[in-house]
Amino acid sequence: MKAVPENSYSEKMVKMQIIARGVTDPFVIQAMKTVPRHFFVEHVEISQAYGDFPLPIGYGQTISQPYMVALMTELLNLKKSDCVLEVGTGSGYQTSVLANIVSMVYTVERIAPLTQKARRIHCDMGITNIEYKTGDGSVGWAEKAPFNKIIVTAAAPNIIEDLKWQLADRGILVIPVGDYRSYQKLMVVIRRGAFFDVSENIGCRFVPLIGHKGFWVKPNDY
Ligand code: SAM
Repeated sequence: MKAVPENSYSEKMVKMQIIARGVTDPFVIQAMKTVPRHFFVEHVEISQAYGDFPLPIGYGQTISQPYMVALMTELLNLKKSDCVLEVGTGSGYQTSVLANIVSMVYTVERIAPLTQKARRIHCDMGITNIEYKTGDGSVGWAEKAPFNKIIVTAAAPNIIEDLKWQLADRGILVIPVGDYRSYQKLMVVIRRGAFFDVSENIGCRFVPLIGHKGFWVKPNDY
């Protein structure tokens, strides 16, 4: 990634919203300071881009709240050598936080213009360790599996079996599970051979994961 000076907005965002709420992973903290969030949101004041809330990115979708990005990234317990699958590219912000930390990120988005836009921003930023796909990420990306870590950034109806089995041994899946019309629980799944440890983290609110293993949503609703 091309060097971008850390800005006072991202410094403040990390201090007030992320460290203050208990995120401690130095890789996550550094990445969240480094990636310029305002590159990924249009038509808002720069200070708004670093606010403590999600923002619209078009097509009925959102860029997640900074704290949620940081928490989910920390729960993945990333290592430099990791190969990560992200389901739900959206703006591409979370993708670049991941790409700042690990060696390779595969990202899937169902809305083609969002994939294209994220790719263009990453290209301008000089990021080279991301591979993109437009399609249904609710079934994962079998050709590129196994993944050390998988992150789903949309609400799923359950912990998706296909994704569990695309994890490498000791791999981690972070996925919001529950009704997309209300709230979900952030679930963390760790693969141990043929077994999976499942734990529950905080409540959250995401747009639906729409697809074969996700929700069926009326056309034009999302
Ligand atoms: N992580 C993103 C960011 O940093 O901007 C936010 C993602 S947004 C909350 C959820 C994204 O998941 C949306 O862009 C939506 O189109 C996408 N999505 C929903 N269902 C999907 C599916 N089956 N496969 C791939 N992407 C999906």
